[in-house]
Amino acid sequence: MNKPFHSIVVPIYFEEEVLPELYKRMSAVMDKINGTAELILVNDGSTDRSLEIMRDLHAKDERVKVISFSRNFGHQMAITAGIDLAQGDTVTVIDADLQDPPEVILELIEAWEDGAEVVLAVREKRLGETWFKTFTASMFYRVIDGMTELKIPVDTGDFRLMDRKVVNALKQVREHHRFMRGLSVWVGFKQAEVKYIRHERYAGETKYPLKKMLRFAKDGITSFSYVPLQMATTLGFVFAALSFISIPAIILARLYWETAFLGQASTFASVLFLGGIQLIFLGIIGEYLGRIYNEVKRRPLYIVSEKLGFDPLTMDVPPRRRTGPLYEEPIEVMIN
Ligand code: UDP
Ligand code: MG
Repeated sequence: MNKPFHSIVVPIYFEEEVLPELYKRMSAVMDKINGTAELILVNDGSTDRSLEIMRDLHAKDERVKVISFSRNFGHQMAITAGIDLAQGDTVTVIDADLQDPPEVILELIEAWEDGAEVVLAVREKRLGETWFKTFTASMFYRVIDGMTELKIPVDTGDFRLMDRKVVNALKQVREHHRFMRGLSVWVGFKQAEVKYIRHERYAGETKYPLKKMLRFAKDGITSFSYVPLQMATTLGFVFAALSFISIPAIILARLYWETAFLGQASTFASVLFLGGIQLIFLGIIGEYLGRIYNEVKRRPLYIVSEKLGFDPLTMDVPPRRRTGPLYEEPIEVMIN
């Protein structure tokens, strides 16, 4: 059998301080890999020196390939682009900031060689993250677990290895609000786990401020669960039951007890309460509706402005020459 070919996909967003060290450690890992490897760096619209450094790395080492977006499309899209263009028998996704040690990739590959098709890297411990981040992250995984039927193992990030079969299945999923770590479990296949210790960010700051984290959490929940929508029904039944009990109770109380339930304060409070709840559910419906709207527009998931190191025949054919059956649609405009 031919030696396997392994792809490593790294999303890059303002990581100029990290890139040289990332390359150093990655190239050491790639040297050790049994087989050959490619390192796909996806620039997600960083405007610092990241892209420049990535081009230099590609010039120096042809295993390094570069995809650059026309603007920031987000972490999940960067991962998607890397997976779309990866050629390996396995594809591993890992963050750039060295929180996830690249050396663990060797262990993931071992698990793959033992027959696993999705190998999840599970954080056994997180070092050097604020309690807030650790707490919100662990809450997030538990809420997702409670609300969806999907068994996303608690405390896994996007750091994982996927077999070619899994990648091909995942490439067919072209939804816009994508939650890759859920999708790679959703497609099924044989899973295994490798435990590792998550370190501190090597340099720079987290690119996930609270606002992005919340949006990410909303995408995670809404793309795999209707529970928030169904909660309205449950609450509706609860309040309807309450009114069935309270209406006769109020009438009886007024008949036998002149001063019962006088005043408007209680009326105001209940109107505000119910109005609030209705608005919340209107908002939740809006969340789903907005997502439906985004999906039906069928825009491309991301737009690539530059590619280095990919096979020009399959990837870079200009549209006018794409007439015969020989040529596939370039992947970045292929949305279905
Ligand atoms: N990232 C990205 N686009 C974004 C935000 C982040 O490609 O809009 C990349 C970032 O460069 C890093 C990975 O996603 O490689 C994870 O980001 P970060 O380490 O900042 O998140 P955290 O580990 O703090 O959750
Ligand atoms: Mg990080």
